[in-house]
Order: sequence, then structure tokens, then C-alpha cells
Amino acid sequence: MNDLPRLPTSGGCRDEPILKQRGQREVFCGLTGIIWLHRKMQDAFFLVIGSRTCAHLLQSAAGVMIFAEPRFGTAILEETDLAGLADAQTELDKVVDQLLARRTDIRQLFLVGSCPSEVIKLDLSRAAERMTEKYAPSVRVLNFSGSGIETTFTQGEDACLASMVPVLPETNERQLLLVGALPDVVEEQAVSLLTQMGIGPVRVLPAPRADSDLSVGTETVFALTQPFLGDTHAELERRGARHIAAPFPFGEEGTTAWLRMIADEFGVDDATFERVTAAPRARARKAIAQASVSLRGKSVFFFPDSQLEIPLARFLTRECGMQAIEVGAPFIHKGIIGPDLDMLAQGPVLSEGQDVDLQLDRCRAARPDLTVCGLGLANPLEAEGLSTKWAIELVFTPVHFYEQAGDLAGLFSRPLRRDDLLQLGVRA
Ligand code: SF4
Repeated sequence: MNDLPRLPTSGGCRDEPILKQRGQREVFCGLTGIIWLHRKMQDAFFLVIGSRTCAHLLQSAAGVMIFAEPRFGTAILEETDLAGLADAQTELDKVVDQLLARRTDIRQLFLVGSCPSEVIKLDLSRAAERMTEKYAPSVRVLNFSGSGIETTFTQGEDACLASMVPVLPETNERQLLLVGALPDVVEEQAVSLLTQMGIGPVRVLPAPRADSDLSVGTETVFALTQPFLGDTHAELERRGARHIAAPFPFGEEGTTAWLRMIADEFGVDDATFERVTAAPRARARKAIAQASVSLRGKSVFFFPDSQLEIPLARFLTRECGMQAIEVGAPFIHKGIIGPDLDMLAQGPVLSEGQDVDLQLDRCRAARPDLTVCGLGLANPLEAEGLSTKWAIELVFTPVHFYEQAGDLAGLFSRPLRRDDLLQLGVRA
């Protein structure tokens, strides 16, 4: 089984110098995570304690919810709250009373902090404790921050999952916990591959319902499916669970390496591993080969945004033939992203944090074939003739594991193909 990937021990970027910059940033705030989290947790409600701006962000980003009974809303902080003239805690109690009286289907209520609630130092953890006492056992009330003051947009999911870990029941059962909110179809593929290898029980955080059998303890091992879950990782370790460090399951190689690390932990033999993975690996390789034709030999520059940048740079350089010029990430947590750094060949600038003007200067000087960045930077860069890919699309689109590997390559090749077609049109 010589082609089963083992992690390289040297030659990667783990110990390369990191350019650290702090300055103006261009990112969405953590409220964005509510848009995919509310789909995963079917009996949860996300109550943002924020401004009209926060309400607009949620409404416009998740507008489809107007056709259904929404599972998120905004308690608007008025000027009197912001000026300290009203007791915001009392106001919040009233809003929650009304909400829970009307929506008896809610089993988990998340009080979500925002920039305004942080500015006036509204203590949402105290509010959550008070409400948990009042509404237990039918409703569990937790809190986390989605504020744009300190977060990048994927940190909203991290903060939400981290808030759930301390209240999970204790277990002594040996189990695998998959951590990260994935589209259902993708999650099912992952669980199916693992169970076909005889690994189990496999549980997933977040669970679809509050009354699931999710628990944690010293016999729990966990694998992250998203690289932005640093706080959740820390909370799980605090509960005694052990992390299986692995490259992230993007592309054929990343997926195989991720599965391999879990399989090794559970003592799966090579023959079983090969039997379960051979066919989907072959499909993934074929799909990537087709989708990456226009990526081969092209350069890519990552602005820090989704925190997926390092695993994606690894995928694009190793499996799609691209050359990375700069790989920027909001945070570089080597305990989580180290195995991907090991597999990323030395050469690109690794940068952490952002001073956006300086980074734009570097990008303009390098003239990459493709720039991966947030929405705010994409239009100006396109106007300057640079092809861009919106980082947020990578979080909204199913891109993990074997069956999505071709789609992942396709997300990057589409803007390049579109530019080629436009140029052909201009010449014609
Ligand atoms: S949390 Fe802050 S950044 Fe996000 S929408 Fe509200 S005010 Fe804007």
C-alpha cells in the first residue's frame, strides 16, 4: 500500500518564518456563521443582541428564511440602551420571555453578542445563566460573541461550538467526535467512510438536536473538519478529549491523510483502508484532474479571511499544480494547521493577521493569476485586472471529502476560465 499518504517529516512550511502584521482588516464578522449554523441545529434559535446593522447583515445574507419560521433574530439595542439609560438586561429578559412563549419548539437558545453589546459591556454570560435557571430543563441558554471587533467570520462558528462543550454530559465511552458544521450530505459521506472501516461510535458536534446523545470525556478522541475551531479545540482538551492532528479533508490527498490519521488511531489495517477508500479516491483524482486543467502553472495569492487558507494552498499547490505566492491567514495555530504546513512546500510568504494596505501593495506587485480574498477587496482588485475568488464561497459550498474534491478545484478554476472567455470575446 505504498501510495497511502504518510505525513512528510521535513521540507514543509511548519518552521518557516511568518510575517505578522496588525492593522486595518477587511473581513466579515462572526454573525455570518449563524447562516449555516441554524441549518445544522434544528431546534436552536440564535438571538443577536445588536444594532440595526446586525439585523440587516442577517436579513440580507439569509433572506431565504423569510419563507419559513426563522430560527434567528435580532434584539435591537436602541439609543437609550447604548447610552445606558435603560436596563438592557431587563429588556433582554422581556424579549426572551416573548420569544420562548411564542416558539415552544426552541430547545437551545444562543444569545449572540455583537459590536454594540460589547461596547456597552452587556454581560450575556450572566444573562444566559439566569435564563438557563429559569427555563431549564426545556430550554438550554448559551451565549457567544459574533462581534466584528475581534473576530473573523468563521470565528462565529468556533465561538458557538466552544460555548456548547462545557455543558456536554461526561462519558467514559471510547468514541470519535467529528467537530465542525458540514452540509448534511458531506457529513454523511465522512461518517459512512469511517463506519465502513469499523470505526465507531462516531458522533458529530454540532448535533442536530439538543437531546442528542452527544457527550465528552477522557476516552473521546476528536478530529476537526474545519481549521478555524481553535477555541473549540481548547475546550474539548479541557474536558479531557484528545485531538487527532491531521491535514484537513480538502482534495483527494487531504481527505486520505485525514482518514488515515483517524484509521491509525483506531487500528484499522491497510487492506481495510484501501478497500474503503480506493474507489472514491480514484473518482476524486479524476475529477480534480479534469477541473484543474486551467489552474496548472498559475499563481495564487491568499488574503486572510476564512482561515481555510493554509489547507487550500496545500491542495492547490500539490493537487492542482498552482504556485502559491502568499498564504495569509487570520491566525496560524500550529497545533491545528501544523500537518497542512508540513505538506505545503517552502516558497510562499506565510503571513498572519493583516495590514490590508501593505498586503494590497504586495499583491499588486506580484500580479497573481488568482487572488482569494473577501468581498470588500474583490471588486477593486477585479477593476485592476486581477482575477479573484471570494473566500466566503468556500465556507458556503460543500467542498470537503472525496466526492466534492472536483467541485473544490472547479471553484478556483471558474474565475480563470471566465477571464479567458472574456479575453476571447474582446479579441473576436
Ligand atoms: S456584529 Fe459588528 S460588524 Fe457585525 S453586523 Fe453587527 S455591528 Fe456590524
